[in-house]
Amino acid sequence: MTKLKMWNEKASFKEAEQEWDQGAIKASQEYPIQGLKQLPSMVGITPDTAKWLKWKSLYWMMKHDRDRKILRSFLRHPLKYGWNYLKSLLKDKPYKRENDFFLYGIQSLEDFAQLLKQERTLLVVGFSYCHKPFECPSGRFSADCQHDPSHPVCRQCFIGKVMNALPDQNTIGVAIPTIHSIGGKIFELIEKYPDKQLIFMITACEMTLQMFGDWGNMVGIQGIGVRLDGRICNTMKAFKLSEEGIKPGLTVVLEDTKAQMMRWVAQRREAELDP
Ligand code: SF4
Repeated sequence: MTKLKMWNEKASFKEAEQEWDQGAIKASQEYPIQGLKQLPSMVGITPDTAKWLKWKSLYWMMKHDRDRKILRSFLRHPLKYGWNYLKSLLKDKPYKRENDFFLYGIQSLEDFAQLLKQERTLLVVGFSYCHKPFECPSGRFSADCQHDPSHPVCRQCFIGKVMNALPDQNTIGVAIPTIHSIGGKIFELIEKYPDKQLIFMITACEMTLQMFGDWGNMVGIQGIGVRLDGRICNTMKAFKLSEEGIKPGLTVVLEDTKAQMMRWVAQRREAELDP
């Protein structure tokens, strides 16, 4: 993984962040990219779409599980996952919400900050592809992200900033093209690191955060969903097109929300957990 040396070599997280931001301003003057200004907000989810959302989610997961990866992973622990899923389904909502943050399996933002400091945790930081810049050198509808700090687009991209700031140990950054891609990745990590407790911070549209919270609760992982603003998906039709890579609009993480995410990244780095 390409790493910006200054983040590892600078005396403080703040100093490294300032240098990153100055580089981002310079890149934006020399190579301006589209659409990084604040875009108008949209209605989070339309009333029609909100009906029967849990069943729409189940149908979507089963219908599009083409390689049966989700089903096969479920069948490794059918009783445990089945019981967890049922318990989550019976709740009105599978999450608690604080502004742009959706909390899964935790009660407060402070709980998440505490989890970040715990040994034995593996943090998954995921970014929905819909807030990749249009000029992304790794391609927008893709799980790839080269996060090259010397590339002028990556340098202006919030995903690039976070990827470069993440610690090397016990933390994995991923770009997310589809819901099955992140679902498969989570199951893969659970199998690969049986001694680790998976925690997550993942950006997504409000609709996705509502639809798929039961699946996170099913596998028992704890973490935060970060709500995206801008040209989000708020109908099943838009969601379906987005899952096929058709996403002409750009979503954004709001500025205050970005700042909180960076504070959590700093806390994870400062925890200096053993591998
Ligand atoms: S940091 Fe990743 S998502 Fe952002 S522009 Fe670079 S390759 Fe694309």
